[in-house]
Amino acid sequence: AAPQLPRRIKPLDQVVVNKIAAGEIIVAPVHALKELIENSVDAGSTSIDVLVKDGGLKLLQISDNGHGIDENDLPILCERFTTSKLQSFEDLQSIGTYGFRGEALASISHIAHLTITTRTASSPTGLRAMYSDSKLIIPKPGQPANPKPVHRNKGTQITVEDLFYNVPSRRRAFRSPSEEYTKILDLVGRYAVHCGGVAFSCKKFGDADVGVSTTAGATITDRTRRIHGNAVANELLPFEVSDDYLGFKAKGMLSNANYHVKKTTLLLFINNRSVDSSPIRKGIESTYAPFLPKGGHPFAYMSLDIEPHRVDVNVHPTKREVNFLHEEEIVRKICESLQEKLAAVDTSRSYALTQT
Ligand code: ADP
Ligand code: MG
Repeated sequence: AAPQLPRRIKPLDQVVVNKIAAGEIIVAPVHALKELIENSVDAGSTSIDVLVKDGGLKLLQISDNGHGIDENDLPILCERFTTSKLQSFEDLQSIGTYGFRGEALASISHIAHLTITTRTASSPTGLRAMYSDSKLIIPKPGQPANPKPVHRNKGTQITVEDLFYNVPSRRRAFRSPSEEYTKILDLVGRYAVHCGGVAFSCKKFGDADVGVSTTAGATITDRTRRIHGNAVANELLPFEVSDDYLGFKAKGMLSNANYHVKKTTLLLFINNRSVDSSPIRKGIESTYAPFLPKGGHPFAYMSLDIEPHRVDVNVHPTKREVNFLHEEEIVRKICESLQEKLAAVDTSRSYALTQT
């Protein structure tokens, strides 16, 4: 048989490359929203409002009262790897803010219609800028300038419309907008519990009532009450443990032995990013098991600060699972301390346990 000739290799069109890359970072509306919330928190906002239409597929809008964006940065704002948060590779080791790759706005601009309205403390007016494929859209003759001056207070509003409009396969993958809205409410609720000093709201376009709402002055217990209800808010134990050698500090609010539900609720933040960690989840569940009736599970909010150079921060943005050094020892330390705390509060049960 004649040897088969290889097909020649050709570079993909840049527009295709960008769309593929964007689709890897943003798989669902909630992923875009997470990046936007983190940007608003990074900007020092004390108020963050989210508006959603069709589960975020039609409209995802986030308004904050943070420091805004400098007018001169608007032209490069949505380019890939442009950021105000990182200068050298070494900075990755000590990064204190959520974002660090300068990829979120770029990605969104490739797969949605993106409009940004912003005003800094020193600018005389607000500006509205529209982006496509990471660039400011060049207005056609007769159209208004872009960016264009508008009225607004200090802060930034990001409007994402028609997400995945140019990625039909991805768009078709969404069965129900209400499922996406549920994920959005869950995410906003997580940040609303975690971010003290920031008022959050989230609602559906056209709805009178809000899905999530907290005030900036609310305590952690009150924020938990707003999002997760009285039953759990009345049974919370404050928790804190740290270890210099392992380089971590954990703080949280966890349910006591009077409270249990069918499924564990874990609100986990590592260095202020909402993440998941199977070892921590499993550790917490097995620590609670002896204190709760069979099949009962706890509520746990935990904020873990780990020395930045010990966390693998260069992890892909879609990855909810993070890795860090001394994982096993840190989880063990947290669970030991939690076990003591639960035992101390629940004396009758711990007495029962020592009898068996
Ligand atoms: P990163 O957050 O990784 O820097 P992004 O693409 O998310 O990358 O954002 C790019 C830049 O845009 C940020 O570094 C920040 O300077 C600016 N920015 C984005 N959102 C906001 C906001 N809500 N308020 C102020 N600045 C913002
Ligand atoms: Mg960001």
